[in-house]
Amino acid sequence: MDSSRIRRLLAEEIAASTARNPRSRDAYGRAQHLFGRVPMTWMNKNAGAFPLYLESARGARVQDIDGHEYIDFCLGDTGAMAGHSPAPVAEAVDLRFREKGGATAMLPTEDAEWVGAELTRRFGLPRWSFSLTATDANRWAIRLARAVTDRPKILVNSYSYHGSVDESLIVVGPDGRSTSRPGNVGAPCDVTLTSRAAEFNDLDGLERELAHGDVAAVLMEPALTNIGIVLPEPGYLEGVRELTRRHGTLLINDETHTFSAGPGGCTRAWGLDPDILTIGKAIGGGIPSGAYGLSQQLADRLLDRADLDLVDMGGVGGTLAGNALSVAAMRATLEHVLTDEAFARMCALSERFEDGVRKGIESYGLPWSVSRLGARTEYRFAAPAPRTGTESAACADADLEDFLHLWMANRGVLMTPFHNMALMCPDTTEADVDTHTALFAQALAALAG
Ligand code: PMP
Repeated sequence: MDSSRIRRLLAEEIAASTARNPRSRDAYGRAQHLFGRVPMTWMNKNAGAFPLYLESARGARVQDIDGHEYIDFCLGDTGAMAGHSPAPVAEAVDLRFREKGGATAMLPTEDAEWVGAELTRRFGLPRWSFSLTATDANRWAIRLARAVTDRPKILVNSYSYHGSVDESLIVVGPDGRSTSRPGNVGAPCDVTLTSRAAEFNDLDGLERELAHGDVAAVLMEPALTNIGIVLPEPGYLEGVRELTRRHGTLLINDETHTFSAGPGGCTRAWGLDPDILTIGKAIGGGIPSGAYGLSQQLADRLLDRADLDLVDMGGVGGTLAGNALSVAAMRATLEHVLTDEAFARMCALSERFEDGVRKGIESYGLPWSVSRLGARTEYRFAAPAPRTGTESAACADADLEDFLHLWMANRGVLMTPFHNMALMCPDTTEADVDTHTALFAQALAALAG
């Protein structure tokens, strides 16, 4: 594709976005007391000159402060996979916070056992503990894995993302050796002291790293979802399980995004058998929530260890983790919103979305690919689809991505700012998907000239 043409089209969309959103532009201009002008620095990841400001959101729809409505396929990068403010969650939150009171009282509620049992039904692991973010679920899972194995290191896949977890900011460098992820902010030490990296879909590379005998756990997504979707090749996940067992390394499945694969994530859909499972974002229906599940054997071994302070300041836990409000929201989400039936509908819509994108790509003969993981679809500027994180990172094209995001946003469709990712929620409709398909085809026509 002609890069000067992409840049010209992108400039036109930036100008259109600026003209279309004067209130968002002014709000951003006035934000003098925020670090980077935004509530969180990643909100500066925008295709346009400023972020769109949220007015309201319900189900699969978002309204901005300039009065525009959007079909939302971003869904808070999975935080709102249950749809925005689903009624059962709103009622549960209202009941807990306003009617009964007691969002955070340092006392358990009976909802927690219900949620634990439901997570067991879905994911198989029998013992659960809660956090408020997926990052913390991963942090605490890592600590438990190190404690129980008495090994210092964690292995992650190159260009995976597991939150702002120190140990996970590592990639496989051009020389094949593990090295700090580019841009790693304020690492506490050289990350190769705490971590190793392998490429997704590379069992030989994984075995080489595990052979050092110092890896407490492999922390992985069963499919990469933060560098496009990179799906596992046949035999890869079975191989990971076999190698981790052989080398005495625990396996942690991070299902925070791969939950899109179905009601029990990839773990249930593909019959996986991790020692620990972590999850966050979607399970709270918009209220901060996270969880980690442990195998029976691991839970027993940990609870038997009198030397580990699991109760006070030993490094696992947070004051508000497992609070009554968060747990009530998880229960409502799992019981009434992200149900087995909802997943069946969401996955069918995602297939429709994938078909639409594939037809667009084929009709222009583009060297792009589209991958789907249940209710999540993503296209990538490479064909065939990349098979490792490093390959996928190499086919990024910032201008092209920004153009497509802005093209969509200027016409009422939101995509996830960090990817070309679209997620379905229980309120998404076939018409919403078809709107995207039509706009995507028009964008390709504009690019083709
Ligand atoms: N794990 C995965 C797979 C994620 O994609 C993310 C965030 N995108 C996280 C963990 C961290 O989630 P949070 O930022 O909500 O802690």
